[in-house]
Amino acid sequence: MRLWDTALRDVVEVELRDPNQFSFYVCGPTVYGAPHVGHGRLLLIYDVLRRYLEWRGLEVRHVSNVTDIEDKIIAQAASEGIDPSDLAAASEAAWFETSDRLGVLRPNHVPHATEYVEKMGAFIGKLVASGHAYPASDGVYFEVAKLAEYGALLNQPLDSLRAGARVDVVEDKRAPADFALWKLAKPGEPKWPSPWGEGRPGWHIECTVMALELLGDGFDLHGAGDDLIFPHNENERAQAVAGGHRFARHWMHHGMLTSGGEKMSRSIGNVLSLDDALADHDVRALRLLVLRSHYRTPMEVTPVGLADTSAALRRLDSLARRIPEGGTGDGGASEVRTKFVAHMDDDLDTPGATAAIFDAVRQANSYADAGDDERARAVAADVRSLCGALGLPIGETVTTVDAAAEELVRQRDAARAAKDFARADEIKLQLESEGWVVEDFPAGTKIRRP
Ligand SMILES: [Zn+2]
Repeated sequence: MRLWDTALRDVVEVELRDPNQFSFYVCGPTVYGAPHVGHGRLLLIYDVLRRYLEWRGLEVRHVSNVTDIEDKIIAQAASEGIDPSDLAAASEAAWFETSDRLGVLRPNHVPHATEYVEKMGAFIGKLVASGHAYPASDGVYFEVAKLAEYGALLNQPLDSLRAGARVDVVEDKRAPADFALWKLAKPGEPKWPSPWGEGRPGWHIECTVMALELLGDGFDLHGAGDDLIFPHNENERAQAVAGGHRFARHWMHHGMLTSGGEKMSRSIGNVLSLDDALADHDVRALRLLVLRSHYRTPMEVTPVGLADTSAALRRLDSLARRIPEGGTGDGGASEVRTKFVAHMDDDLDTPGATAAIFDAVRQANSYADAGDDERARAVAADVRSLCGALGLPIGETVTTVDAAAEELVRQRDAARAAKDFARADEIKLQLESEGWVVEDFPAGTKIRRP
């Protein structure tokens, strides 16, 4: 498989540390609020990468952290007047609820920064001892001038980075680009003991230590949004290299979600929450929308885009209903499989891969129209398998049901149980007038979007 490598600025073959295993780390959330659509894209891109590699037969080790101690959490908790750990726990629960709802597989390991503070302290101690870091009045800093290859990931020399680096006002920081490894606690802030005084680790050292602890030196791939290339990922890498480790072999970065052409972020205040984006849409619509744009390009999530992918999903579902399972496909070598794999192996070209699937949908339908059931079943079986590789179950409509509709369903089931069929019909009409398809099953009423 070939992927764009941020450090090499080229599409290159991914050389695995162990030919049968793919190990990757993705910078996870700093938990201080509800996930937005940009987080949905992050979750879906790496879920697709993982599922595809598993479908290809690799054993995947997927690690993604939860940053549960960080300046933003402390600031947000203070503004809400709550304990930072309570805010972090509630936000993490919301994160995984969203992830589950999107059909994203949970990582094999979800390390929490607060569980690794002692190891982070030991790592910082090594960097101080080797002269790569120094204590200052408010914490411990990494000295970027001491690492010749600092800037390797961004592929820019230190001089050009200096100009753009955010300058923290610290009296005895040796250079503006030096960054905090350990931050001494101010009164009332969460704190852990260290040789330099009570405090907390910096964000960058958290990821370095957790990735190396769980995946070891030279793990295969590190992923993150392209807004984290500098300084976060550059600093993660610098710390590891200064500590004598080989860090990620390959760096993958995905594009941001935009809204009206601007990056979507909490600091700009233009975020679209996942709940709002998915209201009235099949949850798979967002996955298909993400698949239809290349992971490295910025993308916009709009109601029109989601309506469009919802319509495309109906084409997949109606094929699945029209041609029941039972075809075997022809396994390795069918035309659609070959095209699909070629696209996916070419820098995760999911727009090309999904287009190949929809070509096959048309083909299966025309075989079925012509009465060639055997070929129709074979192509439909491929479509099912390839959709599965992308995490798109087909043939069942997964709709977000709002609380009001759920309540009507409950009332209708109660009316039917009480043999009040007039009332049951009345509720059915009401649901239909709100755009639901209402179906009766032995277990009760089921509703879905047409
Ligand atoms: Zn990170």
